Amino acid sequence: MPPQTILKIAVAAPLHTVFDYLPPKGCVSGQLMPGVRVAVPFGKGERCGVLVGIEGETTLGPGRLKPALAVLDRDPLFAAEDLSLLRWAARYYQHPLGEVIASALPVRLRRGESPLDQGRPGWRLTAIGAVQDPAGMGRAPRQAEIIRLLREEPDGLAQEDIYLRSQGCRSVLRNLERKGWLESVLLSPQEGTAWKITDATTPALNADQQSAIDRVAQSLGSFSAFLLDGVTGSGKTEVYLKLVERLVAEGRQVLILVPEIGLTPQLLRRFQRRIPAPVLVLHSGLTDVERERAWQRARQGPAGVVLGTRSAVFTPMPKLGLIVVDEEHDLSLKQQEGFRYSARDMAVVRAQRAGCPVLLGSATPSLESLRNALEGRYHHLRMPQRAGTAVAPSLDLLDIRSARLEAGVSPALMRITAETLDAGNQVLLFLNRRGYAPIVTCHACGWVAQCRRCDARMTLHLSKRLLWCHHCGSQRRLDAVCPECGEDELRPLGQGTERLQEVLEDRFSEVGIARIDRDSTRRKGSLAKLLGEIREGRHSLLLGTQMLAKGHHFPDVTLVGILDVDHGLFGADYRAAERMAQLIVQVAGRSGRAEKPGRVIIQTRHPDHPLLRILLHRGYDAFAEEALSERRAAGLPPYSHQVLLRAEAHHESFPLEFLLQAAELGKALAGRHLEFWGPVPAPMERRAGRYRAHLLVQSAERTLLQRLLGEWLPQVRTIKLGRKVRWSVDVDPQEMF
Ligand code: ADP
Ligand code: ZN
Ligand code: ZN
Repeated sequence: MPPQTILKIAVAAPLHTVFDYLPPKGCVSGQLMPGVRVAVPFGKGERCGVLVGIEGETTLGPGRLKPALAVLDRDPLFAAEDLSLLRWAARYYQHPLGEVIASALPVRLRRGESPLDQGRPGWRLTAIGAVQDPAGMGRAPRQAEIIRLLREEPDGLAQEDIYLRSQGCRSVLRNLERKGWLESVLLSPQEGTAWKITDATTPALNADQQSAIDRVAQSLGSFSAFLLDGVTGSGKTEVYLKLVERLVAEGRQVLILVPEIGLTPQLLRRFQRRIPAPVLVLHSGLTDVERERAWQRARQGPAGVVLGTRSAVFTPMPKLGLIVVDEEHDLSLKQQEGFRYSARDMAVVRAQRAGCPVLLGSATPSLESLRNALEGRYHHLRMPQRAGTAVAPSLDLLDIRSARLEAGVSPALMRITAETLDAGNQVLLFLNRRGYAPIVTCHACGWVAQCRRCDARMTLHLSKRLLWCHHCGSQRRLDAVCPECGEDELRPLGQGTERLQEVLEDRFSEVGIARIDRDSTRRKGSLAKLLGEIREGRHSLLLGTQMLAKGHHFPDVTLVGILDVDHGLFGADYRAAERMAQLIVQVAGRSGRAEKPGRVIIQTRHPDHPLLRILLHRGYDAFAEEALSERRAAGLPPYSHQVLLRAEAHHESFPLEFLLQAAELGKALAGRHLEFWGPVPAPMERRAGRYRAHLLVQSAERTLLQRLLGEWLPQVRTIKLGRKVRWSVDVDPQEMF
């Protein structure tokens, strides 16, 4: 038989295999480079896949091999090292390669559309526009700013750069165009980017910052991992900026990953003003076209920064010289459905393979990273002091066992809040529960509003008169009378931010109150607007959920009240205490600056709880070391590794039956060093109408677990009942829901 050319194509499908095709008719071999997209016949239709290899053999019988339809790209979209990283991820997380690759592609390219025209849309001044005087445009400051900016760029400036370097937005540009002052232009990729440093006022580094930078800088050009363990405000971002400046000057690229909520316009501007190179952003709020342009530019590799959320970890970057993961403890770095990867862990793997350093930063490092640092696998860089002259806030516990709470606030906290407001300062109250009340009950018969599809209660959202399930999203109207007994005795129990706001507005009617949670910020731009108003001092009392705990800095806040930490002390998940401690420290870190030191008051019914006491008296690092020794004693992560099999079905018994069969197959393969826990019903057994169960597999050795998965999962995939349940694999699970 003559040698054949067989294309190995990864197609986005829930199948753990790549697919074999013959080259398209009339295609020349120069086009067949791994990393190009290929259109292929698939089932009854046509799909876009990615060529991942070329071989001389196939296991398909003669006549079953079909030719691919067309090669879609002139050059590979992924370099060999990008493909190899994606392959690694698919294997480690046990997810189909085709889906992993698809998730790394911008949406249009995933669908097989041709890449966008590489020109970049931009704007330049018209002849009339060029003679306008921005100084005389006081009533339109944003228009004036753009005129000023474009005066320095006679050839025009790319639209994305205008957004980055000014307060301008699409409507401002449209208005200027309508006046005939601006015209749109298409710029070549290199053109229209005069990368200027617009903020040269960098603070003089302190000794901790300087030594952190020096340590990382010494390692450039080869792999090593660093944990930058620095309190909020210690100047971690300043460390990143200095390192980026240096790498960009050497013509390199830097990848910076941040949690979704951490990618604020302020952070972006801070980079943009300091770095004389493109700062490309990649996050879920962009349009498909914006994402694709940023992705393409990163792939083409001019020196610069890619600042992105989780999925940016897979962006092709040919000149990658450093990876930074900010807030590395943040749960949003782990994808919780589909391809369940950890962007932090992928960042470390990627750095290892790319031969560059990785810097993980946090004020509250994860126990995983802290263990690595304590055992010497990561260099531990500490910055225990706030930068400049700012001082850390003081933390106090407030015993509320015998207090009469009003919307969750004790009289003592209410009094201190009033005093702080009277003194002209800002107060932040933190309550991690949105809505009005988590429970609605009938005082006449005891009826409680339950979700019909979940084992959960409905949360009352009073402003909309809705009962809302936070687990499956079901909603129904709040009836005037009890659906069970017909009495007019329905009452809310407990409190959410909406109720807290109502009580505070009543109490402190003379001050501005801003509520920040998912409901109050649902409309696009509303969060930015609220934050802007807070900075301008229009609200003295801020209240909200964990949205307030991350990313933002409120220097005028001098009092932080944390209303409810107790559920974290006794949560079902063994990680509950770690999460609670991180949240307390993060919320506390929002406040205070030099001339206005902050105070943090934590309400609790368990003021003697040992973990709380350690956290308050000895700080997060001491807490974390204590938590680590508990984990070690119990053999829990990070001293062991876990894989969670989840199964769910409408039929009550199927998930457990399926997992029992899976466990039997697994135990037959496993040696003594692998433990099987379960299967058991999930903590919330019924959710969105489906019954759910878990099987946890644990081992002290990651490699043993990986080896087991490689043999076991192919067998699990053959279980007949598997067709009647939805099941998934979560490697290194972060949540047990
Ligand atoms: P982090 O990222 O650790 O929260 P930042 O880098 O944002 O800290 O710094 C917090 C604040 O302190 C910022 O306003 C920053 O400009 C300022 N800052 C950082 N380093 C210094 C320094 N060495 N001297 C004075 N101010 C500094
Ligand atoms: Zn009733
Ligand atoms: Zn529900």
